[in-house]
Amino acid sequence: MKNELLYKQPKTLLNKGTGFLSGYSHSLNPYTGCAFACSYCYVRGMPVSIFRGQEWGSWVDVKLGAAELLKKELRKAKAKGPVTIFMSSSTDPYQSAEYKEQVTRSLLEAMAEEPPEFLLVQTRSPLVTRDIDLLLRLGSRVRVSMTVETDLDAMRKHFSPMAPPIQARLKALRLLKEAGVPTQAAVAPLLPSSEAFAGKLAPLVDRVCIDDYFMGDGSGGKRTKRLGLETLYTQLGAEEWYEPSAYETVYRQFREVFAEEQLFMSQTGFEP
Ligand code: SF4
Repeated sequence: MKNELLYKQPKTLLNKGTGFLSGYSHSLNPYTGCAFACSYCYVRGMPVSIFRGQEWGSWVDVKLGAAELLKKELRKAKAKGPVTIFMSSSTDPYQSAEYKEQVTRSLLEAMAEEPPEFLLVQTRSPLVTRDIDLLLRLGSRVRVSMTVETDLDAMRKHFSPMAPPIQARLKALRLLKEAGVPTQAAVAPLLPSSEAFAGKLAPLVDRVCIDDYFMGDGSGGKRTKRLGLETLYTQLGAEEWYEPSAYETVYRQFREVFAEEQLFMSQTGFEP
């Protein structure tokens, strides 16, 4: 898919944490739009995408002057109370544009200088390892949550062909762990996987969050249904994976490898 990059000066950066993110004081998006274009992305059905009138994934707005603005907003927000930040809720902070634009890196630099109480970095890109130096400066105030929806790269290609390969994400988790950056794997949304999945994650993470369309889209699966995802499962003959019971199967497999306190369900796994 061709990707259009536009540069925009935002008026504000920190948004109030609401709904799924109500455990956070704020959410933070370095970009608007997301070139990973996952089929199941709930942002596809949100006003930011609908009113744009262009296909989700075909455009990305780069936020200019973001670090300076964030520093100002952080100082103000911190004066009012503890600041906990979810980055990012409607874009991937480490999508391809970040290689060159470095908006996310500049935001991490700002946060290393003016640290929030807690920062969750939510991504599915190995580019996050570029910023290990800054993540380490945030110490235990940061957690990198790496999406690994399946261990089967064929499924990744089917459901989100523009997103980074699974193997690269696993390698990134290993590098983060070796560097001492707190991490978790987010099996979210869970996609058809093999029985070996939990065993592959076990040496890489101490914490796993599992989520599905029914718990995780904020509407009991209705938002996901509107995206017409069922067809993608029918094409594979894997309809049973588009059922709430798939979660139980995957959870059981993970319990054979991980302790109960290492496994988190849906929203609780993303909380500070
Ligand atoms: S990476 Fe996240 S924000 Fe980007 S398309 Fe996929 S689900 Fe949506």
